[in-house]
Amino acid sequence: MAYGEAVENLSREMVLVSHIQRGAVQDGPGWRTTVYLKGCPLRCPWCYNAESLHFQQELRYVPQFCIGAAACGRCLEACRSGGIVLPGPDTDGRPVVRRQLCRVCGECTQVCPSGALSLVGRAMTAADIVQEAEKDRDFYSTSGGGLTLSGGEPLVRPTLAAAVMTLARQKGLHTAIETCGWFDLDAPENRTALRHCDLLIFDLKHLDS
Ligand code: SF4
Ligand code: SF4
Repeated sequence: MAYGEAVENLSREMVLVSHIQRGAVQDGPGWRTTVYLKGCPLRCPWCYNAESLHFQQELRYVPQFCIGAAACGRCLEACRSGGIVLPGPDTDGRPVVRRQLCRVCGECTQVCPSGALSLVGRAMTAADIVQEAEKDRDFYSTSGGGLTLSGGEPLVRPTLAAAVMTLARQKGLHTAIETCGWFDLDAPENRTALRHCDLLIFDLKHLDS
């Protein structure tokens, strides 16, 4: 199989991305585009990307953004699963999400005017991710920046990680991976990913004796 064809095959896998941060300055050198993949095998109590822990799409609710059920209440009408209920006395007039009944259909997010409700997890291919990162190429060239793959844990998606790193390299982007270290070093795709990675940022989570 030709090299280009192999990369093409690698790049077809879809992955859920929780969010993409442009102009990141703490995930490697220069101005960077950091792509947060969903899904991590660890459950660190101090995780600052809790929306990236699970591998599936999720409903995010930020009550502080809600303008109140009395002023709006559209989500209560939109949800047909009982996933959103009227506010109780201690919710300051804001609806409550009942996770056990939510089907993650996204209907409520379509009508929420304030962004309090949103779906986390956008399906993207490696090609989509690199294309997104390429939009800031001018900033990379003046700052020494590039693309950082983060999470979640990007290397538990070896095929996707290999495809992103390979494609980004082909496009001349500086590449970095942020890892918690929980991944299979013997997986050939991970070796491909690391071979095309300019900087590995290893987040050592904890030590024991
Ligand atoms: S995502 Fe769907 S099921 Fe869940 S709360 Fe919103 S409307 Fe209800
Ligand atoms: S739709 Fe959004 S802003 Fe309106 S009540 Fe529901 S959560 Fe609040």
